[in-house]
Amino acid sequence: SNTEQHDILIIGAGPAGAVAAALLRRHGHQVLVIEREQFPRFSIGESLLPQSMAYLEQAGMLQAVVEHGFQFKNGASFVCGERQTAFDFRDKHSSGWGTTYQVQRADFDHLLAQQAELQGAEIRYRQTVTAVDLEGERPRTQVCDADGREYTIESRFILDASGFGRVLPRLLDLERPSGFPLRSAYFTHIADGIRDPQFDRNKIRITVHPEHHDVWYWLIPFAHGRCSIGVVAESSFLNDVPGDETTKLRTLVMQDPALRALLQHAEWDTPARNISGYAANVTSLWGKNYALLGNAGEFLDPIFSSGVTIALKSASLATDALARMLAGETVDWEADYAKPLKRGVDTFRTFVESWYAGGFQKVIFHENQEPSIRRMISSILAGYAWDQSNPFVTESKRRLTALESICA
Ligand code: FAD
Repeated sequence: SNTEQHDILIIGAGPAGAVAAALLRRHGHQVLVIEREQFPRFSIGESLLPQSMAYLEQAGMLQAVVEHGFQFKNGASFVCGERQTAFDFRDKHSSGWGTTYQVQRADFDHLLAQQAELQGAEIRYRQTVTAVDLEGERPRTQVCDADGREYTIESRFILDASGFGRVLPRLLDLERPSGFPLRSAYFTHIADGIRDPQFDRNKIRITVHPEHHDVWYWLIPFAHGRCSIGVVAESSFLNDVPGDETTKLRTLVMQDPALRALLQHAEWDTPARNISGYAANVTSLWGKNYALLGNAGEFLDPIFSSGVTIALKSASLATDALARMLAGETVDWEADYAKPLKRGVDTFRTFVESWYAGGFQKVIFHENQEPSIRRMISSILAGYAWDQSNPFVTESKRRLTALESICA
């Protein structure tokens, strides 16, 4: 009847899905990707971390990304009133890439998906996964195509890379609340018109709200004079700001004198969008014949731009385990996938919690910083949250708490 047989089914063609597809192709496996949208499509998550370059390289996509002409990125600058500090990711404790890019995700995700196709992955756009049955030997997945026709895919294994779609967590009741308070983001793209010669287009700029230290803005330069601008705060705070999405965003941006001055010539040519309640977790990152990648698993918070890096790391770890399993080896998904992935996620979590509690802000704006410690922090900010040679990875909580009390 209406049933197709495939080797590996991937749900979602975002960064996690595309990179996982390419990596499995490199292991010689047949891959089908089901993607709900037509690409190119808008997505949020535009500032990459240097650590992600290693996985793009592994997936054979790095050259295409480098040659595309995205905005070069070498660090992050943080601003709070008169205080300012910049981290150059090339000056860091961990070895590996110190630079990366800031990308319009419509272009970036499309590029990665095309690269996966070039390596032999099949991607079907405008098709949606609607149900899954994991009872039998082979998982059966229900798909609805662009014309509303339903069919079934039988595969050996499912990788859920559906991001905020969270397909398997919803269908299998794996959702677990995140420990973070409910926050929202308002954001848009602008023709920034920035003329200030001090402004460094090669860095993401994070601004702390002048009065509320748990409210912050991102300014992410793109190529060709455009920027992504966004504000993040607890939803209760943002709900109290009047107006539509664009008005709310502009009102909040104008509350910071430095941002207001920097963006005085900006053209707000694109309506703002809003996303809320994005922090999410699951009871388990794997189960019988499936694993969850990227945002389909856990998502923490956008403050350190770690989302795509975690998504690509998860694709790398999961495809490695899966390839070994398909080769007949015994794979312990908890020990070989979930635990190693969570190690880095937990490092980021410690830093995210400290950011909102205020401790990490005291650390980075502190006047006298020990250079070797600063290089360890720079490594984390560059995405090297799995580097066991960094004490801020192996003992992140203890080390960060100690550093906070010195800087307090
Ligand atoms: P996605 O990129 O979300 O891709 C999932 C794909 O699955 C989508 O294409 C979707 O259409 C498809 N899909 C969904 N449901 C179905 C279905 N039922 N059937 C078929 N297909 C489906 N990360 C960074 O690295 N840097 C940043 O600067 C950054 N900023 C952020 C700012 C905000 C406000 C937020 C909320 C997040 C930010 N992130 C950032 C995180 C980033 O957006 C995500 O971590 C990243 O996109 C995750 O990639 P993914 O491949 O897991 O999922």
